[in-house]
Amino acid sequence: ATPTSIMVGTGKGAEYGILFKGGEHLEITHQINAVVLDKTGTITVGKPKVTDFETSDLRTLKYLYAAEKASEHPIAEAIVDFAKQEQVPLLEATQFEAVPGHGIIAMVENNTVHVGTRRLMNKSKINYGSYEEKLIQFEEDGKTAMLIAINHEVVGIVAVADTVKSTAKEAIAQLKALNIDVYMLTGDNEKTARAIAREVGIDNVIAEVLPEDKAKHVKQLQEKGKKVAMVGDGINDAPALATADVGIAIGTGTDVAIEAAHLTILGGELTLIPKAIYLSRKTMQNIR
Ligand code: ADP
Ligand code: MG
Repeated sequence: ATPTSIMVGTGKGAEYGILFKGGEHLEITHQINAVVLDKTGTITVGKPKVTDFETSDLRTLKYLYAAEKASEHPIAEAIVDFAKQEQVPLLEATQFEAVPGHGIIAMVENNTVHVGTRRLMNKSKINYGSYEEKLIQFEEDGKTAMLIAINHEVVGIVAVADTVKSTAKEAIAQLKALNIDVYMLTGDNEKTARAIAREVGIDNVIAEVLPEDKAKHVKQLQEKGKKVAMVGDGINDAPALATADVGIAIGTGTDVAIEAAHLTILGGELTLIPKAIYLSRKTMQNIR
């Protein structure tokens, strides 16, 4: 590999908004044959909005608001916006625990409030059978639905939806045209993930992955002989980005992700991923 052609390649990349941290990453990128994309904030815009809220208990929205007010998750932001819009009075949660990948547990007015996934309810031995059908309905629409329990009894459900980025479908088609296997990796539930994947043309979905396990799934693909690029924006994507042969951060994402990655694509424009791979292949061809 001539240093000059690598320099020309990284320079060209920078013009497009593809920022390689070093020439060696441009070199490795030509070997990539699998691209793993985080869902929220990578394939989607990352600004979910509440679409549905149902409850059998008048206190639910008040408690939901108080509980989520203490969380920093994008889902919590969506719920807080919704509660404000509904002019719900703000109570203070006296205790708060975020359970990564599951949801939250809080104390509000001496009541225990759980908000989150089936798994959160299972862990706390809360029965949600009567809500299963509702959950599935929302999930098949590509919405993320959370159960809400007060004092260990499910009393409601809240669903949020996020918008898919306008160029996501095109970017994925371009990756496939380059003969690359495309995967979605997400903490969200299987049905919601598949609905979004279908929308953008992704066939391989790895869902319900806990934040600490994202890197493990990248490693598993590598053990199958894949050269993996991981694309993500979040703090919990950082270990997976570092593990991947090429970690790609979304420029609009967190600093932690950008630091862990080998290259950053500006503006979160997903078509820059196939462009980066094409650029690397071209550069390496010229070298040989
Ligand atoms: P993602 O990979 O989509 O960002 P996370 O691993 O952060 O997902 O969370 C997985 C799931 O846990 C979410 O889809 C949601 O159902 C639940 N969850 C996480 N944080 C919260 C919260 N603050 N309130 C309610 N549910 C939450
Ligand atoms: Mg994300």
